Amino acid sequence: MIPARGYAAESSTSGLAPFAFERQEPQEHEVLIDILYCGICHADIHQSRNEYGGTFYPLIPGHEIIGRIKSVGKEVGRFKENDWVGVGYFINSCGHCSSCNEQEEQFCENGITLTQNGRLADGTITKGGYSNCIVVNENYVLRVPDNLATAGAAPLLCAGITTYSALRYNKVGTGHKVAILGLGGLGHMAVKFAVSFGADVSVLSSSPSKEQSAKALGAHHFIHTADEAELKAATGSFDYIIDTISAKHDCNRYLRLLKKDGTMVLLGVPPENQQFAVGLLTSRRRKITGSFIGGLKDTQEMLDYCAANNITSDVEVIAPYYINEAFERTLKGDLHYRFVVDMSKI
Ligand code: NAP
Ligand code: ZN
Ligand code: ZN
Repeated sequence: MIPARGYAAESSTSGLAPFAFERQEPQEHEVLIDILYCGICHADIHQSRNEYGGTFYPLIPGHEIIGRIKSVGKEVGRFKENDWVGVGYFINSCGHCSSCNEQEEQFCENGITLTQNGRLADGTITKGGYSNCIVVNENYVLRVPDNLATAGAAPLLCAGITTYSALRYNKVGTGHKVAILGLGGLGHMAVKFAVSFGADVSVLSSSPSKEQSAKALGAHHFIHTADEAELKAATGSFDYIIDTISAKHDCNRYLRLLKKDGTMVLLGVPPENQQFAVGLLTSRRRKITGSFIGGLKDTQEMLDYCAANNITSDVEVIAPYYINEAFERTLKGDLHYRFVVDMSKI
């Protein structure tokens, strides 16, 4: 066994605190990774606080992982010591269902094993990236190009792939008017990708203070969502709305901003259910869809695209002791735009 250190929540109200535990030695096809950086995704907050139910404690969150290979199992062929690598939201899938065969492992019919709060075959619960090391099957490890060996690359493993995959699957590009609803970790990556793909991009935000930085990210327009006149003026104007809001909100206010045949893509997963006004869909043949992270092939494609186009996340790097404060500031939207924990300081 390998002694490991992490930050864990002991209950839904405890906050996170230092936690000692053990990782298994890497098996034949597994690699041991020294974690250097781990992003703080809003899903970590939802799960630490058991907002969906089903959280096993102690919970070590973290699924935006960047690190270096420390050692490899004897059958590992894809990686060697010191390679820069990434790990995202899942570390296993069945490998043989129709979704796995289509390289969309995130939709595995037999269930993916999540990097955090997932259940392994022996019944143990997976511990995520708010820790100094992790052991993963080489096939679920991403290669990180040299120029992405930075803290700003960590959020690509979830915020990055989630927005990249949603935009690519929906073929967003030149000639499309796209609204990014909610400018946080996912939202700011959605802006960067949509701009890079050639779309005309509007940020729809509840925070007027974010206008300047939205434009600095490349957004062409900014709408303050509390301003009814601004929203009304945008009625029927968007081909796509990418909804990244993490908390309860009324989607019907935004559905009317879609053109005929426009599509709302839901990425944010607030704990509460939504109610949709059916007439807003039928009257303009509008569509609502969702998207969930991305498969391994698309994640590697996204990392390579980011490396080629100099795209990383805008991050504030913190030491592990600051995680609880970082959760609070994320909930307040008080950051531009993702916290990344420096795990070398654990
Ligand atoms: P985040 O950094 O906290 O950003 C969420 C943004 O939502 C905030 O910056 C804020 O933007 C807006 N917002 C928050 N509370 C709001 C409220 N009460 N009313 C209106 N707007 C509000 O979160 P994130 O890490 O980007 O994650 C966003 C959501 O996506 C979470 O629910 C997360 O669990 C989910 N997620 C889904 C996937 C997937 O595969 N589908 C993957 C990762 C995360 P403004 O200040 O601009 O309004
Ligand atoms: Zn995430
Ligand atoms: Zn499968």
